[in-house]
This record gives sequence, structure tokens and C-alpha cells, in this order.
Amino acid sequence: MVSIVIPSYNEELMIETTAETVAGIMEQADIPYEMLFVDDGSTDDSWQTILRASEKDYHVRGVRFSRNFGKEAAIFAGLAESTGDCTVVMDCDLQHPPEKIVEMYRLWEQGYAVVEGVKASRGKESVFYGFCAGMFYKIMSKAAKVDMRRASDFKLMDKKVVKAILRCPEKSVFFRALSSWVGFPSVSIEFDVQERVAGISKWSGKSLFVYAITNIVSFSTAPLQFVSIVGFVTMLFAIVMGIQSLIKYFNGQALEGFTTVILLILIIGSVLMISLGLIGYYLAKIYEEIKGRPRYLISEKR
Ligand code: UDP
Ligand code: MG
Repeated sequence: MVSIVIPSYNEELMIETTAETVAGIMEQADIPYEMLFVDDGSTDDSWQTILRASEKDYHVRGVRFSRNFGKEAAIFAGLAESTGDCTVVMDCDLQHPPEKIVEMYRLWEQGYAVVEGVKASRGKESVFYGFCAGMFYKIMSKAAKVDMRRASDFKLMDKKVVKAILRCPEKSVFFRALSSWVGFPSVSIEFDVQERVAGISKWSGKSLFVYAITNIVSFSTAPLQFVSIVGFVTMLFAIVMGIQSLIKYFNGQALEGFTTVILLILIIGSVLMISLGLIGYYLAKIYEEIKGRPRYLISEKR
């Protein structure tokens, strides 16, 4: 049986359509399945919609969070609750074409433990958004040592991969990178990102920025090394300037050069502040992890 995990946050407009579309496709392909909607603390009628869908179709199950914990948490809850021999994660807005689940399932039957959905095209987005996403994925690809540019959350995982992922104890995780980090024989299939059918994207510019920073920090310590590199460069600079100042002093032509002093203070000041901030960010992450709070809290199950 395949479990289909669908994180949903304020998706009342989509849940019914998604449930029916997926059910239709799975029935036609004759694949045993369950659908698991994870209501990520929606403020609209998503939960009622899930309940209604599960009354209509016994394949539909639901998990409700006590509040919004974010998509990664919703995916994790879905993985933890899924009972299938393999699990597919897909978005609720049908931007991940459900027909592809059949293709993924067939590949799983051939023995692949992970089937990654990769974006053939990125769908419609603004130039600025495309640029930021590009930058983010460049950094992430380096950090996770896998090509992340076209990666998506749309993927199928064997039970053993799900177990491996659930064993990762860290609280802030980047699901997309984790599924390749665990290894296992994998294969990717391309899909075209569809237009969102109804509702709006849940991401604002700010939340995407925070998401990007959080994920980079959770997967890589490169920014910390950046601090040392900047320190090293400043030191070289300091040696050159130091020698120059000493020569000037012994030649009796010191005093001038206030501009240099001001510039130095400004540059060093800002580099120090940024570095401190960076270190603080990692400290905060350690603090959060060490508290060991649960990733999510479930208020209702169906
Ligand atoms: N989502 C979620 N929790 C959140 C934000 C989003 O579970 O805090 C879900 C959302 O319901 C959808 C998926 O994550 O199923 C992708 O969200 P969205 O379509 O808004 O993102 P985009 O496709 O624009 O990247
Ligand atoms: Mg979407």
C-alpha cells in the first residue's frame, strides 16, 4: 500500500478536489493507497473539509495540528503516521501532478527506495523570485552536496527510508535535502509544476527569506567558516596597513590619514557585528535544538 501525505494549510478550497483527483487516479491504476491530510493549524475550514472527505472515502485520513508548525513539521507528522509500504509526499494545491504517483509507484516496484520528483520547469514566478530561489539553491546544493536546484518536496520513499528520516533527531530540518542525505538507491522523474488551481501561495517574501536562512543554517556551517575567512583577510589588510603606518611614523610624517582611521573602524565594526550575529544565530539554533521540544503537537486524528 502507498501512503500519500498531503500537508495542508488553509486549503479548504483544494482538499476535496485533491482527494477526488488522487482517488480517481489510484483507483484507475489499481494501486492500494491511503491519503493522509495533515492540517497544519489552518485557520479556515480545512479540518471540517478533511472530516467530510474521510466520511465520503475511507481511504482518507487526517491529522490536525494544535497550531501552525510549518510545512516541514507537517511532512514529518505525515511520515510518522503513514502505514504504507512506501510513502509519497505531495502538495495540496495539485502543483505536483498526481498522475506522476503512478509512475513513481512503478519505479518503487522495480526496487528504487527513493523516487525524487524534479521540476522540469519551475512554473510561473517573477524574475526576482527566480533569482532569489536560484541563489538559495546554489548555497543549499553546496551544503547538502547534492544538486538542489530542481529538487522539490514531491517524492516517494520506501518504508525503510521513512524510518531513516524519522530517526534524524534534529528539530529544524530541510526535508528536501534530507531525503537525498540518507542515501539509498534513488531515481528521479521530471514533472512540470502546475498552476495553483485555487487559493493562494502560503509564502510571503519574508517567510521565504526566513525559510532560506533557517535551512542553510540547519544544513551547513559554511557561514561560520566565512567568519574566519573574513577575519583572515582583515588580518592581511591589517599587516599591510600596520607596516605602512610604522614606516610613516619613523619617517616623521604620521598624523595624516583620518579617513583611513574612520574607514577602518567602520569596516571592522560592521564585519564584527555581522560575524557576531552569525554566531548568535547558530547559538540560537543550538539552544532551540537542545530544548528538545516536539516538532509538532497533534490535537485530533481521524
Ligand atoms: N503548507 C503547510 N504549512 C505551511 C505552509 C504551507 O502545510 O505553513 C502546505 C500547503 O498547504 C501546500 C504546500 O505546503 O500543500 C505548499 O504550499 P504553497 O502551495 O503555498 O507553496 P508554493 O507551492 O507556493 O511553494
Ligand atoms: Mg503551491
